[in-house]
Amino acid sequence: MSKNYPFLDLGTVNSPFMPEIRAALDRVALSGRYIGGPEVERFEHLLAEQTGTAHAIGVSNGLDAMRMIFRALIQLGRLHAGDEVLVPANTYVASVLAVTDSDLKPVFVDIDPDTSLMSADAVRNALSPRTRAMLPVHLYGRVCWNAELKAIAVERDLIVVEDNAQAIGACGSECGLFNPSCRTGSLGHAAAFSFYPTKNIGALGDAGAVTTDDAALAAAVRALANYGSDRRYHNIYAGFNCRLDPLQAAVLAVKLPYTDVVNGARMDVAAAYMRTIRNAAVSLPAAAVGRECVWHQFVVRTPRRDAFRDYLLAHGVHTDINYPVPPYLQPCYAAQYGHTEAPFTDEQARTLLCLPISSCTSVDDACEIARIINDYKES
Ligand SMILES: *Cc1c(COP(=O)(O)O)cnc(C)c1O
Repeated sequence: MSKNYPFLDLGTVNSPFMPEIRAALDRVALSGRYIGGPEVERFEHLLAEQTGTAHAIGVSNGLDAMRMIFRALIQLGRLHAGDEVLVPANTYVASVLAVTDSDLKPVFVDIDPDTSLMSADAVRNALSPRTRAMLPVHLYGRVCWNAELKAIAVERDLIVVEDNAQAIGACGSECGLFNPSCRTGSLGHAAAFSFYPTKNIGALGDAGAVTTDDAALAAAVRALANYGSDRRYHNIYAGFNCRLDPLQAAVLAVKLPYTDVVNGARMDVAAAYMRTIRNAAVSLPAAAVGRECVWHQFVVRTPRRDAFRDYLLAHGVHTDINYPVPPYLQPCYAAQYGHTEAPFTDEQARTLLCLPISSCTSVDDACEIARIINDYKES
């Protein structure tokens, strides 16, 4: 019986934290404080400190984090309905949902085929007089920020909102627009984090957060996510209920201090794949230096994907496809945006395959999976 390599086993990922998580859940359950309160505040403090920003606001999930940022920018008069927001064409649909939720207009920008990140050249070509913001997505855990993107943002006075759902703890080589740190979450005007269970730091359910150095933006996000109220029974906005659950905040406060540890384990797995996979039919992702990539996904590409995927499964290797259909081709957007021209995005959507990677994938397993891949023959 050959070995089985699960794509991701979340119970095993969380098991090393269980003694601390159990204690935290017990504490919240017995506290009598089930909305907001000290557990959420402690999480926010930890996240702001780790990210290097002045503010962190816990919210219900990653989509709501981005929705609240755009809604806040509109309430503050910094964005207006109809303004164009540049988004990478290969992002998860949630990034786009957050843009259209505020009646902003997504403009899909093709990727650099090596990094799978929004291309600065394509960003330049996509600029229009209505461009007001860009949404760099640190896809697969890789920092989407460099001197060119920063120069465009400065020249055109663009609002920069980071989608940091996949790259907590990553750190590039270019510092932020306002912040001297190069860490994701501190690079633009505000950043959205997701703690969906499969992310590098995952909750035991839905959770998210916003980070920013901008006090007015932080206050607007905080109010909007709590019915639009700035103090009890006083509503300055027609807001929402997008608060972070204190149970999830307590779990995340346990896991946040291990960010570098769990990312380091992923980097070891990625390094093993990179040095061991050698097959002309399989393209590897771009190399990364330091913490420039925290490997939320390890994505290879191959022209005959279905056959390759079936072959891996027959050898016990479970894989996933993030993402098979770009957002502009989803039924909800195709009528308006289906004409988008993003050839690299289209090509990768047809050829990409995500290999197993997590803090529980061992380097030995990664080497064994690589050997299975090396034995694959394209028929
Ligand atoms: C997971 C994810 C989101 C959405 O986060 P949720 O917490 O699931 O709402 C947004 N963008 C990207 C790139 C993601 O990977």
